[in-house]
Amino acid sequence: MLESSLLADLRAVVGEQALLTGERVRECATDVQGHPPGAAALLRPRSTAEVSQILRLCHARAQPVVPHGGRTNLVEGTASSASEIILSLERMSRIERVDEAGRTMRVEAGAILQRVQEEAERHDLMFPLDLGARGSCTIGGNISTNAGGVRVVRFGMMRNLVLGLEAVLADGTVLNSLNRMLKNNAGYDLKQLFIGTEGTLGIVTRADLRLVPRPRSVATAFVACADFAALVRLYAHLDACLGGQLSAFEALWPEFYAITTSERTGHASVLPHDHGMYGLVETLGSDPGSDPQRLEQGLEQALEAGILADAVVAKSESERRAIWEPREDVWQVQEQYGLTFNFDVSLAIEEMAAYLARLRRDVAARFPHGRTFAFGHIADGNLHVIVAPGAAAAEASEPAEEVRDAVERIVYEPLRAIGGSISAEHGIGLERRAHLAVSRTPEEIATMRALKAALDPKRILNRGKVIES
Ligand code: ZN
Repeated sequence: MLESSLLADLRAVVGEQALLTGERVRECATDVQGHPPGAAALLRPRSTAEVSQILRLCHARAQPVVPHGGRTNLVEGTASSASEIILSLERMSRIERVDEAGRTMRVEAGAILQRVQEEAERHDLMFPLDLGARGSCTIGGNISTNAGGVRVVRFGMMRNLVLGLEAVLADGTVLNSLNRMLKNNAGYDLKQLFIGTEGTLGIVTRADLRLVPRPRSVATAFVACADFAALVRLYAHLDACLGGQLSAFEALWPEFYAITTSERTGHASVLPHDHGMYGLVETLGSDPGSDPQRLEQGLEQALEAGILADAVVAKSESERRAIWEPREDVWQVQEQYGLTFNFDVSLAIEEMAAYLARLRRDVAARFPHGRTFAFGHIADGNLHVIVAPGAAAAEASEPAEEVRDAVERIVYEPLRAIGGSISAEHGIGLERRAHLAVSRTPEEIATMRALKAALDPKRILNRGKVIES
């Protein structure tokens, strides 16, 4: 139970309207996977000063706080319990300034990614981070999870796009590390403490983002190859012949492509279903006259070399959308199969085929009706795997926890030997915490704990996420 005197103090900071309790919390804080919040109170501050006052009050009473952005994470990174308070940055969504000459943008943490992309475009610039949840995820969430997405192959992850930030520490101290310069080696780069640390070391309130020139051309193709090895050769070929324009290279295994283009989805299949492997290629360039031809030439060469089996190049924005929709509609698996488990692993491209073959074999052996769906950003070494254990497992023939444990072991354990990661871009949250040691050494985890103890000695920030604390 929360102390009523604390709630009264917090109400005095944010005002009556910005402190939600009871059923309103559930309405406003359920995550994208449908998990309702456990917390009984939710605060919606309007400014860094309010966040600072909130944390000062909570720190004094050792009151745990769970920061919320767009709640699109898939690893229980925003899960809360009855003894916690949610701190939502949703009302801190201002875009404060765009510096066209320096190509930077200063925003508050609650700004929605898509709004940031659109604002950059109005200034003839681009904010290159892009992912399926663009319409609801926030910049603060993107920073705290070091978000990746579909353009990492060219522009890097969120870490590459953050020049500086402002964060509030557990005791309410405002740490101003805002910075619009590309170069700043004046001592420790403190912003890194808050990028990818999932709100466990501080709460990001503002950021300086790096922008790039707005591309003048976009060319998109959907491709089919005989097998995974051929798709990897296609990636190397296109990356070499497109002069740095290759901006997305996605892989879709046939089961995934089949389910996201099945009749009930409404998504058209632009290529037949009998190929061994599918890919999505996109270039961003400077010349709408010649760039699409350049991609087509590259694809023709691949066809002649026997690397490529078939390809379709989008001729309009609606054709481009038709190519992307099946790739981004990842919820189809859950909608059509019910119980599913989502994974996001990293491993070397050369290990991928063998890893997936083993995973499929192990899933089939453990779950006779189990299905494995795979897609991902293979140029980044990032596979997304969805395991559907099948109806029998879903009908409680065995406890849900046992099913989850078995699936997680099948997916994670083989990564140990090949130096893979249990999280490429989704983070650890609560869901993957127990498996952290697959990808991190005891010394690394001890150093994480030391940082946590130094910056949040009362363990009030997103308690229990990433590492046990
Ligand atoms: Zn992804």
